[in-house]
Amino acid sequence: MTVLTPDSAIRAAGDYKTATKNFWHPMSPSKQDPSQETLIVVSGEGNYVTDADGNRLLDGVGGLWNVNVGHNRAEVKDAIKAQLDQLAYYQSFDGVAHPRVYDLADRLVGMLAQEDAHRVLFGSNGSDAVETALKLSRQYWIAAGEPGRVRFLSLRNSYHGMHIGGTSVGGNAVYHYNHGPLLPGVELLDSPFLYRNPWNTEDPAELTDHLIRQLEERIEFLGGQTIAAFIAEPVQGAGGVIVPPEDYWPRVREVLDRHGILMISDEVVTGFGRTGNMLGSRGWGVKPDIMAFAKGISAGYIPLAATVFNRRVADAIENGPGFSNVIMHGYTYSGHPTAAAAALAVLDIVERDDLPGNAGLVGAVLQDELQALESHRYVGETRGKGLMAAIDLVADKGTRESVDPSSGIAHRIAAAAREEGVVVRPAGTKIILSPPLTLEADEAREMVRALDAALSRVD
Ligand code: PMP
Repeated sequence: MTVLTPDSAIRAAGDYKTATKNFWHPMSPSKQDPSQETLIVVSGEGNYVTDADGNRLLDGVGGLWNVNVGHNRAEVKDAIKAQLDQLAYYQSFDGVAHPRVYDLADRLVGMLAQEDAHRVLFGSNGSDAVETALKLSRQYWIAAGEPGRVRFLSLRNSYHGMHIGGTSVGGNAVYHYNHGPLLPGVELLDSPFLYRNPWNTEDPAELTDHLIRQLEERIEFLGGQTIAAFIAEPVQGAGGVIVPPEDYWPRVREVLDRHGILMISDEVVTGFGRTGNMLGSRGWGVKPDIMAFAKGISAGYIPLAATVFNRRVADAIENGPGFSNVIMHGYTYSGHPTAAAAALAVLDIVERDDLPGNAGLVGAVLQDELQALESHRYVGETRGKGLMAAIDLVADKGTRESVDPSSGIAHRIAAAAREEGVVVRPAGTKIILSPPLTLEADEAREMVRALDAALSRVD
């Protein structure tokens, strides 16, 4: 067996670019175009990654919206190593636990006191966090004596992970085509999308009025007593970084409260600072009943998810009659000690270095600079909040019709940006940016310069 030292790994890495692979890339054609070179990332340091050819690239994707503290942080690696030296893994089912998992639950409940957080269930990824939220919201209603509340409301353009529940409440049909039948009882509503909405309004207050009317009508038609929860991302991420109008979330929360419907906030991308607030929902001053976290909680160092329940939900379940107070849900990794140790170290950095604050400040520079790209032929709109942004690519600026996703324009722009030294993510008809929250203002400007050059080439 050949042992790869770091040096030989870098030299050998070039071979991976075109080598025959047994690996199916997720979210990709099952047969890869053999002429297309793969970006092989071999190392990372701070806000940069290095590819197989030794190119140092600014990481505009932050891994995949998750490496919020930057790459190769000594504090996180040390915490992981210390935990591995003690105990890599043990379970946490009925009557068994280990210190780090209790520490992390306490830490989260403390950080989320403002949301009246009360209990935490862990998992490994965002899809787990969402599945747990959906299932436990139904359990809440069984415990609360209204077992008829089983439906979910969700939004078009939403992304809630790839388990069958999250796929079913997801608002993008491409994830539905190959995997039906999906969960019944899911009702999709229009998303708070100013750039493209069925009413063709560009007035944020008017858009909210339309959306609230639609929400009220749908609840009235279905019967509030049949609806368990409304699930949404505070800012829609994968759907194209869609930032709702200022009054959207408070008005939605008011309607949900009037009908007793739970609010599940999918904070998988927005949690722990990305939008410039510790939580995405705090940017609108609303308090969810259930919060789903992953990604930024452990910044990609070890997979981890947490679903956090407020006192209303936790108390009802703990005091529910009969079997309704038993948590008959959980995973082998519902509290992985090494992942919990990583998360504690990550959250130390997030709080100590005020990464939400940095995301707000540097994000403002990024969003401002991005606007200048709207002069390019294919750029319909740039939008975002904090350190999450999208460039919406259009075939026609007047009608706002998207570019043909099969045209490969987004991939061509991303490839050109890479030649300019920046990794960005092509996603259908958009370019998505989600750099580490440690990004500096000059690096934000550099990202936009690279995109400007890349767009000029593709124009
Ligand atoms: N929810 C949201 C809002 C997400 O963006 C994602 C992943 N991008 C998920 C859930 C699913 O997370 P994972 O891929 O870790 O399962």
